[in-house]
Amino acid sequence: MKIIQMPDSLANKIAAGEVVERPASVVKELVENSIDAKSTTIKVEVMEAGLQSIKITDNGEGMSEDDCSRAFLRHATSKIRNEDDLFHVRTLGFRGEALASIAAVSRLTVKTSTGEEAGTVVQLEGGKVINQSKGDARQGTELLIEDIFFNTPARLKYMKTIHTELGHITDIINRMALSHPMIRFELYHNDKQLFQSSGRGDMLQIISQVYGMSVAKKMIPVQHKTLDFTINGYIAKPEVTRASRNYISTVINGRYIRSIPLAKAILSGYHTLLPIGRNPLVVLSIDMDPILVDVNVHPTKLEVRFSKEKELFEAVETTIKQAFREQTLIPDVKQPRREKDTSTQSSFSFYENRQPRQETRSQSHFSLNDEDPLTTNEAKQLEEDAFIQAQNAAAESFTAYEQQTNDQGQGSSVLTEEQKQDSVEQSSRRVPVMYPIGQHHGTYILAQNEEGLYIIDQHAAQERIKYEYYRDKIGDVPNELQELLLPLTFDFTKTEALMIEQYQEGLKKVGIFFEHFGQHTYIIRAHPQWFPRGFEEEVIHEIVEQVITDEKVDLYKLREDAAILMSCKKSIKANHYLNNDDMFQLLEDLRKSTDPFTCPHGRPIIIHFSEYEMEKMFKRVM
Ligand code: ADP
Ligand code: MG
Repeated sequence: MKIIQMPDSLANKIAAGEVVERPASVVKELVENSIDAKSTTIKVEVMEAGLQSIKITDNGEGMSEDDCSRAFLRHATSKIRNEDDLFHVRTLGFRGEALASIAAVSRLTVKTSTGEEAGTVVQLEGGKVINQSKGDARQGTELLIEDIFFNTPARLKYMKTIHTELGHITDIINRMALSHPMIRFELYHNDKQLFQSSGRGDMLQIISQVYGMSVAKKMIPVQHKTLDFTINGYIAKPEVTRASRNYISTVINGRYIRSIPLAKAILSGYHTLLPIGRNPLVVLSIDMDPILVDVNVHPTKLEVRFSKEKELFEAVETTIKQAFREQTLIPDVKQPRREKDTSTQSSFSFYENRQPRQETRSQSHFSLNDEDPLTTNEAKQLEEDAFIQAQNAAAESFTAYEQQTNDQGQGSSVLTEEQKQDSVEQSSRRVPVMYPIGQHHGTYILAQNEEGLYIIDQHAAQERIKYEYYRDKIGDVPNELQELLLPLTFDFTKTEALMIEQYQEGLKKVGIFFEHFGQHTYIIRAHPQWFPRGFEEEVIHEIVEQVITDEKVDLYKLREDAAILMSCKKSIKANHYLNNDDMFQLLEDLRKSTDPFTCPHGRPIIIHFSEYEMEKMFKRVM
């Protein structure tokens, strides 16, 4: 006989390879268990980045003596009982593997009590119970893991520097704190406190601790509810951008997950507000019926599958779009501060700065803080009052937001006339009246009012105005057509021609009437009035190209793309002289636009120097 059934000890060790990749994975599994046990305080103490020891103390439900001895068996769980439960998982764990796996590769001591009777203390070594006794009755559980990988030396060799391992641990705690603002987390390394959250449900405070004060100040609260989803969180103003997508945190039913399509929905919410290739900083917590999300697709449960995917992505996109419609997004010019400012990150990170990123599996997933981290000392300089200010500001904008969403109803991506009027009024309130002073190098308009000095990029401003003009026009049903003296002729490929036949009706709706003219040639005799003169062919090509790529006539998207194309083509360029009236008109038009702060490519349009900042620069005030 060649085949044997493995003894449990060997099976557990093998399973450990999957679940317990490094000390941070132990921290993750144990903290998840503490959360599942309904703890409100979770303390994590690690020595030498967890390679020496990891201790997790919680005040959760605890375990009875019987449960405690069963907890370390493979596939032992209290969280699901049958297949049906698997579709209604509300807990973070359910596979019943973590404790068995962790115990298999370490020396483990558990002290636990349900608070009703004497507690239980169990000691295991490489998964074998070596000691069991009674313990105290404090409700909760304390797990101590020592000498991780002592019996799997090959795995130990893979461990990176203390800094790297600790970086992973802090990332885990960051994520846990962001996903569970109602739980108080504490993290200690070699007896020094690295992190603490209040557990009072204050998401903004956690964001400030994780990403720094300057980022927290620039976060906008969002809230949106549909039949299936409740979305809450904070999104950064478009001026805060990052090269990587790691700063988009998505939490589904309390579980931090990674989802590329969800991140894409967030990006579409930002739409043209972000510069190309940049990513926002976002924390979104989404709650839904567990039946709508399959968590059993990934061993570390970092990926999930949604059953109402399309609806979810739409809801997320709407959430973000709505939030921006009410915000003032003019970046203020601040005096350069001595401390690192805009790019500062986690308030505690132990990465040696800019060490080449090692592309290990988990690192590329988890890293919350791979840009310019602050040291603990620097972090301590963050002033409390600045934080309170940020909170107040957020609270104010939140109230304003609530008021507005209440009378706005369910937002859709295409605005109704009423909503359009609404948002025009809102934005005129958002951008104050500005009086032109003059023009700089034929490129920037300088303007002023009581609030200070404004510099406006005239090309970007006009692009925005034109873009919105065309976007609205393209949506109109084209009842007025412009007859062409000479019809335009288009030669398409076979595939293109087939697509045009298929989407004839849809194309008519946007005012494009193709007439078949033999083989794959089509002619157009008239086009909607709004087509910019001289660019008719280009616009039609653009529209056809889009219909072919998307395989549908998406009116909204057609408007977008054609509008961006035309706004850029038709806008006044830099180095173009404008007189005072031209400038005033341009600023007025800008005020009326829906998104007056960035051009359709995401570049800023207005920069503001407040009176106070100017006085500070000239040292009139200190
Ligand atoms: P799972 O979390 O998938 O159920 P684990 O191996 O992580 O599997 O844990 C096994 C069981 O041990 C859990 O189902 C739970 O009943 C119990 N348990 C683990 N950690 C704790 C804790 N901190 N407090 C209370 N019970 C715990
Ligand atoms: Mg678990």
